[in-house]
Amino acid sequence: MSISKSDPIKKESMSFQDIYGHEKQIALLKSAITGGRLAHAYLFHGREGIGKKAAAMAFAAAILCDRKEAEACRTCLSCKKTGHGNHPDLIMIAAEGAFIKIQAIKDLLHMIAFRPLEGGRRLFIIDEADRMNQAAANALLKTLEEPTPANILVLITSKPYTLPRTILSRCQQIRFSPLRQDAVAAYLENKESLDHETARMIAAAAEGSIQRARQLKGDDYLADRRAVMGHLAADHSGDPLRRLSLMRFLGKDKKDVSEKLSLLLSCFRDALVWKEIPGNPTTANSDEQDAIQAITRLTTDDILYNLQTISTSIRALEYNANKLLTLEAMTFTLRL
Ligand SMILES: [Zn+2]
Repeated sequence: MSISKSDPIKKESMSFQDIYGHEKQIALLKSAITGGRLAHAYLFHGREGIGKKAAAMAFAAAILCDRKEAEACRTCLSCKKTGHGNHPDLIMIAAEGAFIKIQAIKDLLHMIAFRPLEGGRRLFIIDEADRMNQAAANALLKTLEEPTPANILVLITSKPYTLPRTILSRCQQIRFSPLRQDAVAAYLENKESLDHETARMIAAAAEGSIQRARQLKGDDYLADRRAVMGHLAADHSGDPLRRLSLMRFLGKDKKDVSEKLSLLLSCFRDALVWKEIPGNPTTANSDEQDAIQAITRLTTDDILYNLQTISTSIRALEYNANKLLTLEAMTFTLRL
Protein backbone atom coordinates (compact mmCIF):
# COMPACT_ATOMS: atom_id res chain seq x y z
CA MET A 1 0.00 0.00 0.00
CA SER A 2 1.38 3.39 -0.89
CA ILE A 3 -1.32 5.01 1.17
CA SER A 4 -0.64 5.64 4.83
CA LYS A 5 -2.27 6.43 8.11
CA SER A 6 -1.65 10.00 9.11
CA ASP A 7 1.62 11.03 10.68
CA PRO A 8 1.29 11.45 14.40
CA ILE A 9 -0.18 14.90 14.95
CA LYS A 10 1.44 17.06 17.56
CA LYS A 11 -1.26 17.67 20.13
CA GLU A 12 -0.96 21.38 19.70
CA SER A 13 -1.69 21.23 15.98
CA MET A 14 -4.84 19.15 16.33
CA SER A 15 -7.00 22.19 17.01
CA PHE A 16 -8.03 25.16 14.99
CA GLN A 17 -7.20 27.37 17.95
CA ASP A 18 -3.50 26.63 17.50
CA ILE A 19 -3.46 27.82 13.91
CA TYR A 20 -2.14 31.30 13.29
CA GLY A 21 -4.38 33.48 11.15
CA HIS A 22 -6.97 32.17 8.64
CA GLU A 23 -9.88 33.17 10.89
CA LYS A 24 -12.46 33.28 8.08
CA GLN A 25 -11.49 29.94 6.61
CA ILE A 26 -11.56 28.30 10.01
CA ALA A 27 -14.95 29.80 10.85
CA LEU A 28 -16.31 28.42 7.60
CA LEU A 29 -14.96 24.93 8.27
CA LYS A 30 -16.23 24.93 11.85
CA SER A 31 -19.70 25.98 10.82
CA ALA A 32 -19.75 23.23 8.18
CA ILE A 33 -18.96 20.72 10.93
CA THR A 34 -21.51 21.94 13.45
CA GLY A 35 -24.16 22.67 10.83
CA GLY A 36 -23.81 19.24 9.25
CA ARG A 37 -23.04 20.83 5.90
CA LEU A 38 -19.84 19.03 5.05
CA ALA A 39 -18.90 18.85 1.39
CA HIS A 40 -17.58 15.55 0.12
CA ALA A 41 -14.47 17.14 -1.32
CA TYR A 42 -12.46 20.23 -0.42
CA LEU A 43 -9.56 21.93 -2.07
CA PHE A 44 -7.38 23.89 0.34
CA HIS A 45 -5.18 26.13 -1.75
CA GLY A 46 -2.77 28.96 -1.12
CA ARG A 47 0.96 29.52 -1.03
CA GLU A 48 3.32 27.08 0.63
CA GLY A 49 3.94 27.02 4.35
CA ILE A 50 0.99 29.05 5.58
CA GLY A 51 -0.91 26.35 7.47
CA LYS A 52 -3.16 24.58 4.96
CA LYS A 53 -2.13 21.15 6.16
CA ALA A 54 -2.48 22.13 9.81
CA ALA A 55 -6.00 23.34 9.02
CA ALA A 56 -6.78 20.07 7.22
CA MET A 57 -5.54 18.10 10.23
CA ALA A 58 -7.60 20.15 12.68
CA PHE A 59 -10.62 19.78 10.41
CA ALA A 60 -10.16 16.00 10.21
CA ALA A 61 -9.57 15.70 13.96
CA ALA A 62 -12.77 17.63 14.73
CA ILE A 63 -14.86 15.53 12.32
CA LEU A 64 -13.50 12.28 13.74
CA CYS A 65 -13.78 13.39 17.40
CA ASP A 66 -16.46 11.53 19.36
CA ARG A 67 -17.92 14.76 20.70
CA LYS A 68 -18.92 16.02 17.25
CA GLU A 69 -18.14 19.62 18.02
CA ALA A 70 -16.34 22.30 16.01
CA GLU A 71 -13.00 21.54 17.72
CA ALA A 72 -11.40 18.18 18.46
CA CYS A 73 -11.56 17.58 22.23
CA ARG A 74 -8.09 15.96 22.26
CA THR A 75 -9.14 13.56 25.01
CA CYS A 76 -11.65 11.07 23.58
CA LEU A 77 -10.53 7.76 22.15
CA SER A 78 -10.86 8.98 18.56
CA CYS A 79 -8.74 12.06 19.29
CA LYS A 80 -6.10 9.89 20.93
CA LYS A 81 -5.93 7.73 17.83
CA THR A 82 -5.82 10.78 15.59
CA GLY A 83 -3.08 12.28 17.72
CA HIS A 84 -1.03 9.10 17.55
CA GLY A 85 -1.45 8.87 13.82
CA ASN A 86 -3.31 5.57 13.98
CA HIS A 87 -6.92 6.52 13.45
CA PRO A 88 -8.07 4.00 10.84
CA ASP A 89 -10.36 6.56 9.22
CA LEU A 90 -7.76 9.28 8.69
CA ILE A 91 -5.74 8.52 5.61
CA MET A 92 -2.87 10.65 4.33
CA ILE A 93 -1.83 10.50 0.72
CA ALA A 94 1.40 12.21 -0.24
CA ALA A 95 3.89 12.15 -3.07
CA GLU A 96 6.51 9.44 -3.12
CA GLY A 97 9.39 11.04 -4.94
CA ALA A 98 8.08 13.54 -7.44
CA PHE A 99 4.59 12.13 -7.87
CA ILE A 100 1.56 10.78 -6.09
CA LYS A 101 1.45 7.25 -7.38
CA ILE A 102 -1.62 5.96 -9.20
CA GLN A 103 -1.60 3.04 -6.77
CA ALA A 104 -2.29 5.39 -3.86
CA ILE A 105 -5.44 6.62 -5.60
CA LYS A 106 -6.44 3.04 -6.46
CA ASP A 107 -6.09 2.14 -2.79
CA LEU A 108 -8.28 5.12 -1.94
CA LEU A 109 -10.96 3.93 -4.40
CA HIS A 110 -10.78 0.48 -2.89
CA MET A 111 -11.23 1.79 0.67
CA ILE A 112 -14.09 4.05 -0.30
CA ALA A 113 -16.08 0.99 -1.39
CA PHE A 114 -16.27 -0.04 2.28
CA ARG A 115 -17.77 1.72 5.25
CA PRO A 116 -15.44 3.67 7.54
CA LEU A 117 -13.96 1.33 10.13
CA GLU A 118 -15.12 3.32 13.14
CA GLY A 119 -18.57 3.81 11.71
CA GLY A 120 -18.63 7.58 11.28
CA ARG A 121 -16.73 9.37 8.58
CA ARG A 122 -13.46 8.77 6.86
CA LEU A 123 -11.09 11.55 5.84
CA PHE A 124 -8.58 11.38 3.04
CA ILE A 125 -6.04 14.18 3.01
CA ILE A 126 -4.15 14.44 -0.26
CA ASP A 127 -1.16 16.65 0.31
CA GLU A 128 0.44 18.38 -2.68
CA ALA A 129 -2.45 17.18 -4.85
CA ASP A 130 -0.79 18.87 -7.83
CA ARG A 131 1.69 16.00 -7.82
CA MET A 132 -0.91 13.58 -9.12
CA ASN A 133 -0.08 12.59 -12.65
CA GLN A 134 -2.79 12.39 -15.29
CA ALA A 135 -3.62 8.77 -14.53
CA ALA A 136 -3.91 9.40 -10.79
CA ALA A 137 -6.04 12.51 -11.35
CA ASN A 138 -8.36 10.58 -13.68
CA ALA A 139 -8.74 7.84 -11.11
CA LEU A 140 -9.53 10.37 -8.40
CA LEU A 141 -12.11 12.01 -10.62
CA LYS A 142 -14.18 8.83 -10.46
CA THR A 143 -14.77 9.21 -6.75
CA LEU A 144 -15.43 12.94 -7.09
CA GLU A 145 -18.10 12.20 -9.67
CA GLU A 146 -19.79 9.58 -7.51
CA PRO A 147 -19.39 10.85 -3.95
CA THR A 148 -20.12 8.59 -1.02
CA PRO A 149 -21.47 10.46 2.00
CA ALA A 150 -19.21 8.82 4.56
CA ASN A 151 -15.98 9.86 2.85
CA ILE A 152 -14.51 13.34 2.80
CA LEU A 153 -11.55 14.27 0.64
CA VAL A 154 -9.32 17.22 1.39
CA LEU A 155 -6.94 18.10 -1.42
CA ILE A 156 -4.12 20.48 -0.53
CA THR A 157 -2.13 22.42 -3.08
CA SER A 158 -0.14 25.58 -3.62
CA LYS A 159 -0.61 25.20 -7.39
CA PRO A 160 -4.36 24.80 -7.99
CA TYR A 161 -3.94 26.00 -11.59
CA THR A 162 -2.09 22.78 -12.43
CA LEU A 163 -5.03 20.57 -11.43
CA PRO A 164 -7.55 19.52 -14.08
CA ARG A 165 -10.66 21.71 -14.20
CA THR A 166 -12.82 18.65 -13.77
CA ILE A 167 -11.28 18.15 -10.33
CA LEU A 168 -11.37 21.82 -9.35
CA SER A 169 -15.05 22.12 -10.21
CA ARG A 170 -16.00 19.20 -8.00
CA CYS A 171 -14.29 20.44 -4.85
CA GLN A 172 -15.38 23.16 -2.47
CA GLN A 173 -12.47 25.54 -2.75
CA ILE A 174 -11.08 27.19 0.33
CA ARG A 175 -8.40 29.74 -0.39
CA PHE A 176 -5.80 30.39 2.29
CA SER A 177 -4.13 33.78 2.01
CA PRO A 178 -0.57 34.57 3.09
CA LEU A 179 -0.53 35.32 6.81
CA ARG A 180 -0.37 38.85 8.11
CA GLN A 181 3.07 39.93 9.27
CA ASP A 182 1.91 40.22 12.86
CA ALA A 183 0.61 36.63 12.82
CA VAL A 184 3.99 35.35 11.57
CA ALA A 185 5.81 37.49 14.13
CA ALA A 186 3.56 36.18 16.91
CA TYR A 187 4.33 32.63 15.82
CA LEU A 188 8.07 33.32 15.89
CA GLU A 189 7.87 34.85 19.33
CA ASN A 190 5.62 32.20 20.87
CA LYS A 191 6.76 29.02 19.20
CA GLU A 192 10.33 29.77 18.22
CA SER A 193 11.19 31.96 21.21
CA LEU A 194 12.59 34.81 19.14
CA ASP A 195 12.74 38.24 20.70
CA HIS A 196 10.17 40.74 19.53
CA GLU A 197 12.43 42.77 17.24
CA THR A 198 14.05 39.76 15.51
CA ALA A 199 10.64 38.13 15.07
CA ARG A 200 9.34 41.33 13.49
CA MET A 201 12.27 41.58 11.07
CA ILE A 202 12.07 37.99 9.94
CA ALA A 203 8.27 38.14 9.65
CA ALA A 204 8.65 41.14 7.36
CA ALA A 205 10.68 39.04 4.94
CA ALA A 206 8.69 35.82 5.22
CA GLU A 207 6.01 36.78 2.69
CA GLY A 208 3.22 35.53 4.92
CA SER A 209 4.61 32.02 5.28
CA ILE A 210 5.50 30.42 8.60
CA GLN A 211 7.53 27.79 6.79
CA ARG A 212 9.53 30.52 5.06
CA ALA A 213 10.00 32.36 8.35
CA ARG A 214 11.40 29.23 9.95
CA GLN A 215 13.82 28.79 7.05
CA LEU A 216 14.98 32.38 7.35
CA LYS A 217 15.44 31.95 11.06
CA GLY A 218 17.70 28.95 10.47
CA ASP A 219 19.72 30.69 7.77
CA ASP A 220 22.05 33.61 8.21
CA TYR A 221 19.28 35.79 6.95
CA LEU A 222 19.78 38.78 9.24
CA ALA A 223 23.56 38.81 8.74
CA ASP A 224 23.14 38.49 4.98
CA ARG A 225 20.61 41.28 4.94
CA ARG A 226 22.94 43.57 6.81
CA ALA A 227 25.72 42.73 4.34
CA VAL A 228 23.48 43.40 1.32
CA MET A 229 22.51 46.73 2.84
CA GLY A 230 26.17 47.57 3.34
CA HIS A 231 26.97 46.78 -0.29
CA LEU A 232 24.12 48.84 -1.64
CA ALA A 233 24.62 51.76 0.69
CA ALA A 234 28.15 52.27 -0.69
CA ASP A 235 28.63 54.38 -3.78
CA HIS A 236 29.95 52.09 -6.53
CA SER A 237 30.48 54.66 -9.23
CA GLY A 238 33.88 54.18 -10.86
CA ASP A 239 34.91 51.40 -8.48
CA PRO A 240 34.92 47.97 -10.18
CA LEU A 241 36.39 46.33 -7.07
CA ARG A 242 33.26 47.11 -5.12
CA ARG A 243 31.18 45.42 -7.79
CA LEU A 244 33.45 42.38 -7.74
CA SER A 245 33.06 42.16 -4.02
CA LEU A 246 29.25 42.35 -4.36
CA MET A 247 29.39 39.61 -6.96
CA ARG A 248 31.49 37.41 -4.70
CA PHE A 249 29.13 38.03 -1.84
CA LEU A 250 26.15 36.90 -3.89
CA GLY A 251 27.72 33.50 -3.74
CA LYS A 252 27.98 30.39 -5.80
CA ASP A 253 25.52 27.96 -4.26
CA LYS A 254 22.22 28.16 -6.14
CA LYS A 255 19.91 28.42 -3.13
CA ASP A 256 22.16 30.95 -1.51
CA VAL A 257 22.24 33.06 -4.66
CA SER A 258 18.48 33.17 -5.00
CA GLU A 259 18.10 34.15 -1.32
CA LYS A 260 20.55 36.99 -1.73
CA LEU A 261 18.98 38.18 -4.95
CA SER A 262 15.63 38.29 -3.17
CA LEU A 263 17.32 40.42 -0.52
CA LEU A 264 18.64 42.79 -3.18
CA LEU A 265 15.12 43.11 -4.56
CA SER A 266 13.66 43.86 -1.16
CA CYS A 267 16.28 46.58 -0.48
CA PHE A 268 15.61 48.32 -3.79
CA ARG A 269 11.84 47.98 -3.34
CA ASP A 270 12.12 49.62 0.07
CA ALA A 271 14.26 52.43 -1.31
CA LEU A 272 11.65 53.01 -4.01
CA VAL A 273 8.85 53.21 -1.45
CA TRP A 274 10.91 55.66 0.61
CA LYS A 275 11.47 57.85 -2.39
CA GLU A 276 7.87 57.86 -3.52
CA ILE A 277 6.06 58.03 -0.18
CA PRO A 278 7.31 60.78 2.10
CA GLY A 279 7.77 60.23 5.82
CA ASN A 280 9.75 56.96 6.03
CA PRO A 281 6.91 54.46 5.66
CA THR A 282 7.09 51.01 7.22
CA THR A 283 8.88 48.65 4.85
CA ALA A 284 10.43 45.20 5.03
CA ASN A 285 13.79 46.61 6.12
CA SER A 286 12.69 49.70 7.98
CA ASP A 287 15.07 48.97 10.85
CA GLU A 288 17.94 49.71 8.42
CA GLN A 289 16.95 53.30 7.85
CA ASP A 290 20.43 54.66 7.17
CA ALA A 291 21.14 52.11 4.49
CA ILE A 292 17.78 52.59 2.77
CA GLN A 293 18.30 56.33 2.96
CA ALA A 294 21.68 55.88 1.28
CA ILE A 295 20.14 53.85 -1.54
CA THR A 296 17.63 56.63 -2.23
CA ARG A 297 20.55 58.58 -3.75
CA LEU A 298 19.66 56.67 -6.93
CA THR A 299 16.97 58.05 -9.22
CA THR A 300 13.58 56.33 -9.39
CA ASP A 301 14.42 55.21 -12.94
CA ASP A 302 17.68 53.67 -11.78
CA ILE A 303 15.96 51.78 -8.99
CA LEU A 304 13.26 50.49 -11.35
CA TYR A 305 15.98 49.46 -13.78
CA ASN A 306 17.78 47.58 -11.01
CA LEU A 307 14.60 45.81 -9.91
CA GLN A 308 14.01 44.65 -13.45
CA THR A 309 17.62 43.57 -13.93
CA ILE A 310 17.60 41.52 -10.75
CA SER A 311 14.23 39.93 -11.56
CA THR A 312 15.51 38.95 -14.98
CA SER A 313 18.58 37.35 -13.41
CA ILE A 314 16.46 35.43 -10.91
CA ARG A 315 14.37 34.04 -13.75
CA ALA A 316 17.46 33.19 -15.81
CA LEU A 317 18.94 31.26 -12.88
CA GLU A 318 15.67 29.40 -12.36
CA TYR A 319 16.05 28.28 -15.96
CA ASN A 320 19.57 27.10 -15.18
CA ALA A 321 21.51 29.87 -16.86
CA ASN A 322 25.22 29.91 -16.05
CA LYS A 323 25.44 31.35 -12.54
CA LEU A 324 28.73 33.14 -12.75
CA LEU A 325 28.00 34.75 -16.10
CA THR A 326 24.52 35.78 -15.01
CA LEU A 327 25.77 37.31 -11.77
CA GLU A 328 28.64 39.04 -13.50
CA ALA A 329 26.40 40.56 -16.16
CA MET A 330 23.92 41.65 -13.51
CA THR A 331 26.43 43.09 -11.05
CA PHE A 332 28.14 45.16 -13.69
CA THR A 333 24.92 46.54 -15.16
CA LEU A 334 23.23 47.48 -11.88
CA ARG A 335 23.07 51.24 -11.41
CA LEU A 336 24.84 51.71 -8.11
ZN1 LIG B 1 -12.25 14.06 20.77
